Amino acid sequence: MTPKYIIFTGGVVSSVGKGVTAAALGLLLKERGFKLAVQKLDPYINVDPGTMSPYQHGEVYVLDDGAETDLDLGHYERFIDIRLKQVSNFTAGQVYAEVIAKERHGDYLGGTIQIIPHITNEIKRRIGLAAKETKAEIVLVEIGGTVGDIESLPFMESLRQLRNEVGRENVFFIHVTWLPFISATGEIKTKPTQHSVAALRSIGISPNMIIARCDHPIEDSICDKIALFCDVEKEAVIPMTTTDVLYEVPLLVEEAGVAEYVIKSLNIKATRKPDWRPWRKLVKEVRTPKPTVKIALVGKYVEFHDAYLSVREALKHAALATNVKVEIGWVHSVDLEKNKGWEIIQNADGILVPGGFGSRGIEGKTMAARFARENKVPYLGLCLGMQVMCIDFARNVLEHEDANSSEFDRGTEAPVIDLMLEQRSITDMGGTMRLGLYPCLLQKGTKTAAAYGVSQVEERHRHRFEFNNKFKAEFENAGMLFSGMSPDGMLVEIAELADHPFMIGSQFHPEFLSRPMRPHPLFVGLVKAAKKEIKDREQRASTNANLPKVLRSTL
Ligand code: GLN
Repeated sequence: MTPKYIIFTGGVVSSVGKGVTAAALGLLLKERGFKLAVQKLDPYINVDPGTMSPYQHGEVYVLDDGAETDLDLGHYERFIDIRLKQVSNFTAGQVYAEVIAKERHGDYLGGTIQIIPHITNEIKRRIGLAAKETKAEIVLVEIGGTVGDIESLPFMESLRQLRNEVGRENVFFIHVTWLPFISATGEIKTKPTQHSVAALRSIGISPNMIIARCDHPIEDSICDKIALFCDVEKEAVIPMTTTDVLYEVPLLVEEAGVAEYVIKSLNIKATRKPDWRPWRKLVKEVRTPKPTVKIALVGKYVEFHDAYLSVREALKHAALATNVKVEIGWVHSVDLEKNKGWEIIQNADGILVPGGFGSRGIEGKTMAARFARENKVPYLGLCLGMQVMCIDFARNVLEHEDANSSEFDRGTEAPVIDLMLEQRSITDMGGTMRLGLYPCLLQKGTKTAAAYGVSQVEERHRHRFEFNNKFKAEFENAGMLFSGMSPDGMLVEIAELADHPFMIGSQFHPEFLSRPMRPHPLFVGLVKAAKKEIKDREQRASTNANLPKVLRSTL
């Protein structure tokens, strides 16, 4: 059976929530009983975002099979509650690499290799794979970027061809645009949307639906105008005003009648009626006033919140489950080294140190871990956050003053975090870390095991360095528990401080498996422990007692 394709393009500007909208429609269709495949096509030349700076790209979202992907995949997994695979995200870089490798291999028998048909065929082959692998009835395809970008042209052209090959009745194009608001006149403008639809039509694609995003309420007359100028049915112009609650988007898309219109156009039948009660309850909960838990997030890309998107969402999920609101205090780890930003840490009920690469800001992160340890502030360390927790412990408890990760100091006398054995011979940077899902055994009687409530878990990884087992006994004797280990007992997966209300670091990234309805146990553990701190917060902030001790170490 030919699957149906729903294709999302973006117009006017990027970052208008195309991924969230696609994810929301995915949920609407799943709730109606359809089997889905989801794909994000990224027109940039990098083979994957794994080598890109978080400043350029936001977080790198890791899947079970170790694929390093675009953060939109996180939206899909969180909204639709599915587990995606490598096939769900590909880039122009992958497409070109494949075609060029085939050319070098002589597969094209002397032909001239061109964008049409060679590149476009490869794009279509990869779209086909997603449908085949999952036996999906509906494939949702989101094209990254905005119509008019040079690099997205081969992708648009491929989808235009696909529509002809599988039949127009099987393909539905949704164009997501932005309506600017001119405050001087109080007007919402449709002209950029008209232009972007004209650009789309010039490459042979007429959208079946336009989702118009705006920060202001959109009147009917605006939708009439878009319908008229863009040649789309009035019913298929969907006004979508920005909401303050991300997880309300599926409810808004449902109310706007998007799913019903799409289903009717594609001539398919739902087998189930959606049950929106859990989502309505969730949105209501988010809007209900609750005590606030303050979490200091100590990172090095904090100016750009998208770099920590899944961490932020995981904190929100955990807060919902704990009946509190979470307020994130963004702390730049480099600031801590310069004696700045400490007031956010002192005022926090919990500290979270997320992942990262490279030496910038490492000392600040280590100091934050030290502050959490000495002041018994709940702490969760993710990957690098676990590594700095071990570095602080080695330096300030075990008195290995020089302790470090060999990532930051190759000559350190105490490399408590060291390059993994299988990483030593690797020279290529792309896709070569320890990536994806690995099992981890939990030690009974630890706070970690209590948080999870099971004895074995599987979590997603993305790292090259690991705890150095040479130091294991020394750490254990001084009160560090290795509460999660790989099944062969060789790799430390979770470290936990015994004499502390909640100080846990994981070598993996739990944030990738947190879902709005199923918060991650380690995040819940942090938020629960932080909730107990609320009443002590003011006292801690006013005494200042332990702060200078931390700062002295940098002098
Ligand atoms: N840079 C560290 C490593 O490669 C941590 C990686 C991370 O935080 N994802 O092991």
